[in-house]
Amino acid sequence: MTPDVKHMKWWGWGEEGVFFNYLNKPGFAPFVKKALAVDLRPRKVDTIAFDPTTVPDSPLPMSLRDALVAATSPDHVTVDPHERVVHGHGSSVTELLHVSRGDYGRLPEVVVYPASDAEVAGVLTAAVEQDAVVVPYGGGTNIARSLQLDPAETRPIISLDTGLLDGLRELDEDSGLARVGGGMQGPALEEALNDRGWTLGHMPDSFTHSTVGGWAATRSSGMQSDKYGDIADIVRGMTVVRPSGTVTLRPVPSESTGPSLREMFIGSEGRLGVITELWLQVHRLPAERVVVAYMYPAWKPAVDAIRQIAAEEVPTTFVRISDGNETGFSLATQKAATTVKKKVEAAAQAGLWALMRRRGWDTDQMCISYVCLEGSADDVSRRRKAVDKIARSHGALSLGTGPGALYDQKKFDTPYLRDFLLEQDVMGDVSETAAPWSKLNGVHRAVYAAAQKAFAQLDRTGWVMCHLSHSYHAGACLYFTFAFKVGEHPDAEYALVKSSIQQAFVDAGGTLSHHHGVGMEHAPWMEQVVSAEGVAIMRTLFEATDPGAHLNPGKVIDAPVTLFDQLS
Ligand SMILES: Cc1cc2nc3c(=O)[nH]c(=O)nc-3n(C[C@H](O)[C@H](O)[C@H](O)COP(=O)(O)OP(=O)(O)OC[C@H]3O[C@@H](n4cnc5c(N)ncnc54)[C@H](O)[C@@H]3O)c2cc1C
Repeated sequence: MTPDVKHMKWWGWGEEGVFFNYLNKPGFAPFVKKALAVDLRPRKVDTIAFDPTTVPDSPLPMSLRDALVAATSPDHVTVDPHERVVHGHGSSVTELLHVSRGDYGRLPEVVVYPASDAEVAGVLTAAVEQDAVVVPYGGGTNIARSLQLDPAETRPIISLDTGLLDGLRELDEDSGLARVGGGMQGPALEEALNDRGWTLGHMPDSFTHSTVGGWAATRSSGMQSDKYGDIADIVRGMTVVRPSGTVTLRPVPSESTGPSLREMFIGSEGRLGVITELWLQVHRLPAERVVVAYMYPAWKPAVDAIRQIAAEEVPTTFVRISDGNETGFSLATQKAATTVKKKVEAAAQAGLWALMRRRGWDTDQMCISYVCLEGSADDVSRRRKAVDKIARSHGALSLGTGPGALYDQKKFDTPYLRDFLLEQDVMGDVSETAAPWSKLNGVHRAVYAAAQKAFAQLDRTGWVMCHLSHSYHAGACLYFTFAFKVGEHPDAEYALVKSSIQQAFVDAGGTLSHHHGVGMEHAPWMEQVVSAEGVAIMRTLFEATDPGAHLNPGKVIDAPVTLFDQLS
């Protein structure tokens, strides 16, 4: 029997039985027809039955199995085919495309569930002694191919599931510091904190299935980072178990102790050891929370308004603007009005649209924006007035809190759309960057141009849309979604579109990634963004601290399989 650790469905995102349904969204099919020249078909696939006979037997050496059992316990070491498939991939669209078609790629020989730091150390020792590879596995939600295994790897591969390293272990209420197991998933942590009147506030869109250790290992950022910070700000201390020993970084507000080891482990994607425990900055639950929506006539005034909100240091929890294309998409995913309340809202919306047209707005260009404010009722009210004033000065119309409440409810549903689109032979995926304010609009334009050029090369009607989120003094994150109907060579077609977008980020002055990490997917660009000398330092670090390349090799730099291989 394997431990009771929650995993996603083996063939796609999230939980079995939860789907994206377009039939209750009357605008969606016409939208897809126009955007992608695709006629949607009703969903046929409720689930894909797992057939264990499609998985080759595990060639796990008996001596390694015995050593892993000795390090943990017999129930915590498994070669079960379903377990090996679940642990053999992350959630990138290309991985899901292949896995859902029964093309599993290189699988781990064994999955092991250590339940303590000592057991993690035992697994790592066994791996080094028997020349095996260890890949830490959190929630499997990364989309940078950070868990993908090298098809040419001949050594046994151990997937080390952190699921039993869980629990809110301590809460220092004077300091707002929580000690948390590295394998704890988002909802369990947030619930445990909320029960005691606290919140972490870290809410990546993958929150429902990702883990604290995974967030740290990928340098993640949640949608509320304007207030709560990126994970790099939130992690104050940690324990990292390595084959040669354990690094313990005590929780401190700040320190001046040479180059930061904490920063070095954040974003290490399993290459420097297993993050078994973290100290996280937590906050009292706010008395009040509102999400106010605005509609801007176009992208530029909307960006100017957000920049002004950041410059005037109005404390927000998040600020987000969707560009014209993404606003069109959001409107197309609105449900049909079936209740009286919804019908009244729909009538009000129609009136608003008429007003916008009278004002001369181009409805294809208008941009919806959400601003979240948290704090005491007085504070929220004061800040809402400040945001309102800035928004109106840039031509926005306030839509009140109704659409914001809807956004808050729907935010974790969108990931299911990718699986639905794959069933329709459409690849939909995301690429995100961050850029200084001065370069943001240039990056936006460059990515649209690059994506359209790639679609033209494929002779396909493609779609790209974007939102701005995660604001900083210096700039913000731009998050692009792209989609196109796949042809005969999905991997090569995807590689062309994705690599065109990534290259546009780098050329136009953006980052390679703002919060999805590097994995194998983005590794080929590392030299362009951190310089050859920077990559050489990273290589020296990985080789010196892991001379046998036992810890998730080939991630962040020196990827054995890259997007460019697909292009050639
Ligand atoms: C639909 C969707 C939405 C997403 N939205 C966001 C978002 O809003 N913000 C964001 O930041 N990311 C987002 N992501 C990406 C992903 O959720 C993050 O990268 C997340 O941090 C991965 O956590 P995980 O626990 O699933 O890690 P995994 O996917 O299991 O692992 C990721 C990497 O971290 C390593 N790792 C995991 N746990 C540990 C550990 N304890 N010690 C050492 N190494 C470890 C693994 O070896 C691997 O290299 C999204 C992904 C999807 C599919």
